[in-house]
Amino acid sequence: MNAILLLSYLVGSVTFIIGLKMLSHPDKARKGNLIAAGGMGIAIIATLVLYKNPGTGQHLGNYGWIAAGLLIGGLSGTLIARKVKMTAMPEMVSLFNGMGGACAMLIAIVEYHHLLHGVQNGDSIYAAGILLIIMLGLIIGTVSFAGSIMAWGKLNGSIKDRIIPAGQMINFGLLAAMLIIAVLLLSSGPANGLLYFYILLALSVLYGVLFVMPIGGADMPVVISLLNSFTGVAAAFGGFLYHNPVMLTGGILVGSAGTILTILMCKAMNRPLKNVLIGAIGKGGGGRQTEKDNNYKEISIADTAVLLAYARKVYIIPGYGLAVAQAQHACHELEKILTENGVEVKYGIHPVAGRMPGHMNVLLAEADVSYDALVEMEDANKELSTTNVVLVLGANDVVNPAAKEDPASPIYGMPILDTELAEHIIVNKRSMKPGYAGIENDLFYRPKTSMLFGDAKKVIQDLITELRSL
Ligand code: NDP
Repeated sequence: MNAILLLSYLVGSVTFIIGLKMLSHPDKARKGNLIAAGGMGIAIIATLVLYKNPGTGQHLGNYGWIAAGLLIGGLSGTLIARKVKMTAMPEMVSLFNGMGGACAMLIAIVEYHHLLHGVQNGDSIYAAGILLIIMLGLIIGTVSFAGSIMAWGKLNGSIKDRIIPAGQMINFGLLAAMLIIAVLLLSSGPANGLLYFYILLALSVLYGVLFVMPIGGADMPVVISLLNSFTGVAAAFGGFLYHNPVMLTGGILVGSAGTILTILMCKAMNRPLKNVLIGAIGKGGGGRQTEKDNNYKEISIADTAVLLAYARKVYIIPGYGLAVAQAQHACHELEKILTENGVEVKYGIHPVAGRMPGHMNVLLAEADVSYDALVEMEDANKELSTTNVVLVLGANDVVNPAAKEDPASPIYGMPILDTELAEHIIVNKRSMKPGYAGIENDLFYRPKTSMLFGDAKKVIQDLITELRSL
């Protein structure tokens, strides 16, 4: 292969690694993303210009098709990414991930036919290894495609969670059937295995759909991350197939990053991956019911402002509602006013607050909140006992004590922010409705808690006005 082409692949691979490393720091994440995208751009352009078929010596060809694909994909991707609301980000990630899976699936179909063509014309020897790689790319890519589209539909509400009776048995049966067909395909070889190949494709679609169907609630991000790692592995098989180092590195990095993120999220929710895949968390089911009827205290804007103004230390706990209200800028303003008045203000960040990993970090970074003020859950929990006021802004599940106290609760075992350790807890939300997991939150009824009802942005703006007038 042309040395310059190989060099560009090396540059691409290195930028992926640098980009990934930078993604772990909120202040460098944007730059990291651009660097990795730049590396990918170099690899694509170098392939278009420099690649030559080792057999025929010809360039790629089909430039019209490639340009059309790049244009349509690039334009629609940019438009979707620009228009998407922060709260709909997980849906977009699922959709994009599904497209990656679909690419791996299409590559497997095309390459199977290339192999078939070669075998039938007798100008290529049957290579079981190549067939195996094509088959694995087909299965993993198709499962990822079908599963991600399901996840996308479930997150945007067009597909409902559905528990299929004996669903696990059906899934195990499907996996066994896929294994048998895969063995039959391998032993028949590409020329005689066309039917097996397409049966395998159909079973993989079905498995992807059924595998994601019963999963819901707080387990969705874990599944999305798992499917993301599947797409990475499928892309790496494509890299093997084409002897393309940049595709191989990219696929391996996505596969391993997705796997690590999956494990980290399971840890953050204290749920073994097995339970995520088998059990459906959350809508209704389990959980202690509290004495609801108005057995909670309300607090006014004026009283909240006084409590905040005279506190030494305030912890803000942001949640999904803050993102819905787009109250991040107002929140930063509130933080600045309090800080100017000598109050120490920090943010307690739960790893699954919001609707995607890192949601709160990204949201607050958008409003220029200093990264130093963002404290991870474990460290925040160490400080909450010395905190005067905890201001919960649009968070619910991540501060629900049922996760610690009620073994019947679907979120039991998930680490939470221990807001109760603080002197006063003020919870802002619009009503007493439950959060994402669909369960009652006992914190709202406890003696130290006061409810501050209203849209987060309006409430914060009113607090700012009140604080200025004090
Ligand atoms: P929750 O979904 O538990 O609660 C959010 C609360 O915000 C709701 O109770 C709602 O109450 C309130 N709210 C909504 N809109 C507004 C508004 N405009 N102003 C004020 N309040 C508002 O959010 P958390 O962040 O606490 O927890 C995240 C949940 O999502 C967890 O269960 C997590 O597992 C799950 N999840 C997390 C993902 C991730 O990766 N971060 C991805 C997918 C799910 P009301 O309607 O009364 O206002």
